Amino acid sequence: MENSGTVLVVDDSDFQCELIGAQLADLGWRNVLFADSGRAALELFDRHRKSIRLVISDLSMPDMDGLILMRHLAQRNLDAAIVLISGVTEEILNSAAGLASAHGLDLLGVLAKPSTTHQLRELLDKIPATPSRRPPGGGAALTPQRLRAALADGHFLPWYQPKVDSRTGKPVGVEALARWPLAIDGPIGPAEFVPAIEEAGLSDELFFSIVRTVVSDMTRWRAQGIDIKAAINLSMDSALNLSMPEQLSQIVLLGGLQPGDFVIEVTESRLMVERSVAMESLTRLSLMGFTLSIDDFGTGYSSLVQLIDLPFRELKIDSSFVQRASLELKAKTILRIAASLGVNLSMGVVAEGVETAEQLDIVRDSGCNTVQGYYFARPMPFSVCTEWLSQRSLTHQ
Ligand SMILES: [Mg+2]
Repeated sequence: MENSGTVLVVDDSDFQCELIGAQLADLGWRNVLFADSGRAALELFDRHRKSIRLVISDLSMPDMDGLILMRHLAQRNLDAAIVLISGVTEEILNSAAGLASAHGLDLLGVLAKPSTTHQLRELLDKIPATPSRRPPGGGAALTPQRLRAALADGHFLPWYQPKVDSRTGKPVGVEALARWPLAIDGPIGPAEFVPAIEEAGLSDELFFSIVRTVVSDMTRWRAQGIDIKAAINLSMDSALNLSMPEQLSQIVLLGGLQPGDFVIEVTESRLMVERSVAMESLTRLSLMGFTLSIDDFGTGYSSLVQLIDLPFRELKIDSSFVQRASLELKAKTILRIAASLGVNLSMGVVAEGVETAEQLDIVRDSGCNTVQGYYFARPMPFSVCTEWLSQRSLTHQ
């Protein structure tokens, strides 16, 4: 198969450049540029950036190592995918991978030297057919007017990802995740619309619009005998709204449901100035009977001190620990300790991002009683999820 697009290979070893060049040729990549240093790589990148679809870089290079190169590429808004390659230990490769994702780079994976054509092919198969980021001006801009209209038309919908019992596989709940499936220029992901919603000051509107739909979907599930809890994500903006708890419980009670039927997932991803306000509204939710869940535990500001300050009843371990636990001993240890922390505080412990049978074994052995992830199901529209839930509930009774 012929691959259009250019690959930029960065390595200070001629031999390594030749080897990768030959492997790329085997895989059908004809346009390959070689740079023997980070500096040379940046010059080539600036000249050919439009055609470059992939950067393969060595980590250890004399003047500018692969880590610095990644930073420069991130500053240049690298759109291409990236593969790291090195002779250093797995632990350092993993840290480098973490750094790449912190820079927002599309890292396909890391390869230990010497890599085989087969390993390279497996990574390159993951290159998206079209660049993952929208070109600037490609889609219609997410102006406050457009977002308001989409909210008014009910275009933001909850999709549901099941949470299942880690031992029985039986569904115990769903997490509602906001989606915008029918935008005029194609589906727009939450990574794009959520920041725009926040910037437009529409976080509350989105939250309550999702809540209303979740309540009506839950009522339909109850009518069919599907008895599960629904988790809803609360943004910090909404936590700062002191009338939010009353509004929320009103919608729930009007729908014939109880606060105890809902889990409210809270992530604190940034330092908050008005922390006491958020603490008040979150504590009130808990008093009303909603279950508070600390989301993405172990990342950002979602950490130990929150467990002391707020009445969390559920702890969700961030997917990054789950995914790395199958590869790295350190991540596995942290996962186990986070789970036992939750258990010791009498909290439910949920592992997010479980994608393989091996990861399921690890999180179950670590003491996570609930799991969520592609291994069981992706987020699904209401009707698809209903089908999934009714089949699962029947076969696992
Ligand atoms: Mg969540």
